[in-house]
Amino acid sequence: MDKYEYYKALGIDREVYDFATRAEERLYDRFKAADDMAELCQLKVLDAFHKEQVQEACLSGSTGYGYNDLGRDTLERVYADIFHAEAALVRPQITCGTHALALALMSNLRPGDNMLSVSGRPYDTLEEVIGIRPSQGSLREYGITYDEVELKDNGDFDLEKIKERLSSDTKLVAIQRSKGYSSRRTLSVEKIGECIDYIRSVRKDIIIMVDNCYGEFVEEIEPTDVGADMAVGSLIKNPGGGLAPVGGYIAGRRECVENAARRLTSPGLGKEVGASLGVMRSFYQGLFMAPVVTASALKGAVFAARIYQELGFEVLPDADEARYDIIQAITFHREDALISFCRGIQAASPVDSFVTPEPWPMPGYDSDVIMAAGNFISGSSIELSADGPLKEPYSVYMQGGLTWPHVKYGIMNSLQYMVRDKVVDRDMLK
Ligand SMILES: *Cc1c(COP(=O)(O)O)cnc(C)c1O
Repeated sequence: MDKYEYYKALGIDREVYDFATRAEERLYDRFKAADDMAELCQLKVLDAFHKEQVQEACLSGSTGYGYNDLGRDTLERVYADIFHAEAALVRPQITCGTHALALALMSNLRPGDNMLSVSGRPYDTLEEVIGIRPSQGSLREYGITYDEVELKDNGDFDLEKIKERLSSDTKLVAIQRSKGYSSRRTLSVEKIGECIDYIRSVRKDIIIMVDNCYGEFVEEIEPTDVGADMAVGSLIKNPGGGLAPVGGYIAGRRECVENAARRLTSPGLGKEVGASLGVMRSFYQGLFMAPVVTASALKGAVFAARIYQELGFEVLPDADEARYDIIQAITFHREDALISFCRGIQAASPVDSFVTPEPWPMPGYDSDVIMAAGNFISGSSIELSADGPLKEPYSVYMQGGLTWPHVKYGIMNSLQYMVRDKVVDRDMLK
């Protein structure tokens, strides 16, 4: 068997294949580390399944009010176990990551309270939730004020400034683990823990919420292991394992989770209602698969970093750095490169491979954006996907990959398209 023949059939040139193969050979240690992490996290997940006695009856759902939904209630205990938390809310009625974060904030803050972000400006979509950009229904409209402390230039928390800004009105501190679509570095759980310890040494009674999107199962520990009151995320990212079709979660202290449940449903009803419909099997199976899927995505991110840094582009993080989330940024400083990259990823997708991504004026962005995503679950970013705004510095953010062979081929194909479109010279691959 000549492996190249299979790649050739999918449009990959020999030079691209050889270049990618050499890159992969230099990553065996990183891949071993990713597999080791998947192993630990797989056992952690399995242990929770055993402890909570996940059984066949959990896999079918309820309708109507959803009283006594065994699958839903058991799954929430499984999440709580994995996060070493008192409780969790894991629901298809939480529509996305932004909704989960908005829910955690709106349910735990009251008029007159202050919220302080200590990892700089939060993820784009939270600006309207908070009211940084004026918006109907924002926290600000409810009389909740907002403050933020930038990370220092070296990426560390600015503890002195945090101490200064912690006022008697500060009720909740928000920390974003992943860099998201910014140019800073992602925070390790360990570093988040140090910041939490510091904040608690100043003020004991503050609620600390961590935006955990893209971070789940990348490290051995989660923010709730280092003192966060809530870890919040999306099920169409890491913990859904690519199978969850919708949903979000909040894991943490019982009172905080109960507040969120009462806001999601209603005071008096809380976690007791909320039919799980037909999604329980995919929630369980996705969570079971999530450690290995996350490792595939992580390998893809490191592989992309290796390839594109070797070709002279800026990558963040680089191929040798420790990783705390699955996002890879590559900066091209060239519009044609960004477009070729995304088209190559799209053409490698299992779904909609024949579609050509075009830049378009996406609502909420001040420039055109190009996106590549040929997904089974619409908008899922644990599946291989890439996007970037068409403006300097022409960075692409790529993430996801349900299987390592697919993400490997996808990144090879992005390079193939760069060669085809004459962004990368064949000689550079020698
Ligand atoms: C994806 C993401 C969100 C928002 O999630 P959506 O599901 O897109 O609404 C929030 N914060 C971070 C860091 C994210 O990566």
